[in-house]
Parts: sequence; C-alpha cells; structure tokens
Amino acid sequence: MSNVNAELASAYKTILDVVGRTEPRIADATRQELTDQRGSLKLIASENYASLPVLATMGTWLSDKYAEGTVGHRFYAGCQNVDTVESVAAEHARELFGAEYAYVQPHSGIDANLVAYWAILANRVESPALEQVGAKTVNDLTEEDWEALRRAFGEQRIMGMSLDAGGHLTHGFRHNISGKMFHQRSYGTDPETGLIDYDALAASAKEFKPLILVAGYSAYPRRVNFARMREIADSVGAVLMVDMAHFAGLVAGKVFTGDENPVPHAHVVTTTTHKSLRGPRGGMVLATKEFAADIDRGCPMVLGGPLAHMMAAKAVALAEARTTEFQTYAQNVADNAKALADGFLKRGTRLVTGGTDNHLVLLDVTSYGLTGRQAESALIDAGVISNRNSIPQDPNGAWYTSGVRLGTPALTSRGFGADDFDRVAELIVDVLSNTTPAATSTGAPGKAKYVLADGVADRTKAAAAELLDAHPLYPGLEL
Ligand code: PLP
Repeated sequence: MSNVNAELASAYKTILDVVGRTEPRIADATRQELTDQRGSLKLIASENYASLPVLATMGTWLSDKYAEGTVGHRFYAGCQNVDTVESVAAEHARELFGAEYAYVQPHSGIDANLVAYWAILANRVESPALEQVGAKTVNDLTEEDWEALRRAFGEQRIMGMSLDAGGHLTHGFRHNISGKMFHQRSYGTDPETGLIDYDALAASAKEFKPLILVAGYSAYPRRVNFARMREIADSVGAVLMVDMAHFAGLVAGKVFTGDENPVPHAHVVTTTTHKSLRGPRGGMVLATKEFAADIDRGCPMVLGGPLAHMMAAKAVALAEARTTEFQTYAQNVADNAKALADGFLKRGTRLVTGGTDNHLVLLDVTSYGLTGRQAESALIDAGVISNRNSIPQDPNGAWYTSGVRLGTPALTSRGFGADDFDRVAELIVDVLSNTTPAATSTGAPGKAKYVLADGVADRTKAAAAELLDAHPLYPGLEL
C-alpha cells in the first residue's frame, strides 16, 4: 500500500468519528459495511472495491455545486472548477479508450443508455411525422408535438440481447423505457453452445431493420466480436451501440483488443464506471464526434444536474486505469475467471457456454437440483455473496432462475490469484452439493426454500476467512 493510502486510512477514522457526532447510525452503518465487505467472499460480477483515492474524491464540497450544461456553457455561475473536473475526466476517458468524444455526466449505466438512445434518435431520425410538424430532429419538437414524437418513436426499432441470454433490461426489455420508446426484438444465443450466433443475428437484423443494434451484456461469459457486430449493423443501416458496463475494465486494461474492443467499431459506447473499471458509481458515454452535440443534451433531457464530485472521482479512477498496474489487474481478472471456471468444471458443475473468457462465470445450478434463488440463499448463509441469474431458456423464470452469476473483479482487487479462485470453486461446490430443495407448506416442490446441511456454513466461513485474511481489504484502515 502506498503512503497516500496510509494517510487516507487514518483520515477515514477521523471522518467517521466526526460524522458519528451528527448521526451515529450512519457512521455505524458505514463502519459495519466495511466489516461485512471485509468478511465475505464478494463474487457479484458487477461489484468491485474502488481505491481509497477514488473513494476520498467522492466526499468533497464539489458535491455542493450546481452545473447544468456542458464545459464552458453552464446554466449556473461559478462553474470554473467543475469545468476543470469534467474536462479532465473526459480527457482521460477519450485517451484511455481512444474515443473521439466522451461524456462523463451520467449518474449510472442506465442513465448513460438513456442519453445514448436520445442522442441516436436526435441524430439519425428524419421521419415524415417530424416534417409534418415542421421539426427537423426530435430536439426541435415543441410541447404540442410530443404526440407526433411518440408516433415517430413508434416507428423506430431496437435490437439487443435477450435478458435470459445475458442482456440488460435497458437493451429493449418490454418493462424498461427502451422497450417502449422503440419496437423491440431481441437476439439470443445458440441453444447448443450458448454462444452468440452471428449469422442468425445478421438474418434477424436484415428482417427487422433496427435503428439501433445494441451489443453488450450483464451475464454472458464470453467475448463479443464487435467488428462482426458493426458489419451486421452496417448491412442494415443501423447504429451500433455497445454497452460495455460490465467489461469496461477489460477494455481499459487492454485485455480486449482488436475485434473485441468495442470503441473503434461502435458509433456509441456506454458504460458504468464502478464495475470492472473499478471507479465510483456512475456512467459515461463515448461516441464518434457525429453524436457529440446530441449527447451533450443528456442533461437536462434525461439527466439531473452533473455531480461534480463523482466526475472528479471518475477522473481519478480513469487516471488509475491508464497505468500498467491496472493492465496487470485486468489480465488477472480474466485469468482468475478462467481458474474459477476450471475449478467448477473439474468438479462436475455445469457452466453456461462451458466456460468463460471474460470476467464472469454463469453456473447452471439445475445440475444440483436447485433453483438460482435456493443456491444464492444457501451461499449467502455460508458467507459467499453472489447473485442468482437467468440462464438461456430458463425453466424457472426470471424470479427464481436457474443460474448463479459469479465475477472475479472484486476479489482480484484484493489480490486473489488463480489458486485462491480454485479454492473458491471448491467451497461453492461444497455448499451447493450439501443444499437440498425444501417442499413448500403444501408439500409441493419449493423454488425458494432449501436446507443447507449442518456444519457446511461454518466450515465454508472458516475456509473463506483464511483466504480473506491473506488478502486484506484496505489494509491499514482501522475504524
Ligand atoms: N448496463 C449493463 C450491461 C449492466 O449490467 C448494468 C447494471 O448492472 C447497467 C447497464 C446499469 O448500470 P447502473 O446500475 O449503474 O444503472
């Protein structure tokens, strides 16, 4: 740990003592969260541990400033420092990812996707419905024209990966606004291999002719060929939008290069900053210059005012992501996922797609006679934090599910290596093999209740504690 972190470690004790004088319950919950995070195997694929400099940057008076607008063009006075913060964060993002343009205001990944959808509509749609009301783009519409706008929206189409194949609900899911603004069609994966079938996708896109082809995922354990995705988009005149929320860290760390790096191939790339990228919670949009002016309308079109303290923390995290240390980290994330997958495969656990080549592994827990919900709960009892997830053609639906998603970014940040992840697989197999479904009160087979054999939770927690103690979280930080 560097000296900077040692200084910050002692600063946090003081900060929480001071916070506790105003609202002790918040100071206590914050301390307890650290204890809980230190004491559990965090395998949620979308979570990580940001560095202390990133965390510290979030807690400053930059939070007090309103700054609607864009750099040099704000609706509030006195934004010179926010301008610096936003420019530095955007510069890092452009240079790190090699993008022509970066917008660092989105407060989350979902916000980033909304900004992108709006910008693509504004930039690309020239419909008779707009012309009828004398508008050139959706940005020109007046209040009275909203009805016409909805009609204009109704003619647009979006195509993204289905939820059960690993897509995200903002990729056209019917209960998300993306599935309401646009006509929607999804693409799945090959039922045999679990992999994206690019030829089938191309044929479906040819038939459906989407305005936007969305690539990217939350639970697909494989790399995507973005050059092929762009070819498909171009063949039907679609905009290629890639949501790299999950794997931005692997792009930043140059594990995904060439056809697997979305930035040179996509028109628009959205991301979160807090998953494998290991920054503060937030979102970001990268794009070709063609979309810049429309994306800049993100606030106030679909976003609240920019959070200067969060953009500052994004800048610090992006600066970290430009180091060779981060590249080593990203490679370790992928190598560790492979070790975790191999650990399951050699112990007979079924994995969706038969393995991984990114940062996540998707277990098919039907091989243990369990639902995802039962497996997730039993694992929590044993101190293993993961999340249940649908698998392709899931027999148990989106609530109970049949899968458990595990990711390596967080524990890799603590320094876990391949042998540690093999041991993690062994512990999880032990828990799942000793969990049995329990019947409901009516005697019917249950999808939620389960019985974990005596002693398993304790022995798993003890073994996990050994691993966790060997790789402390925020060493030196005592509260
Ligand atoms: N996009 C993808 C692919 C995601 O997996 C997620 C969240 O898990 C999001 C977007 C949404 O990010 P946020 O929770 O920051 O809104």
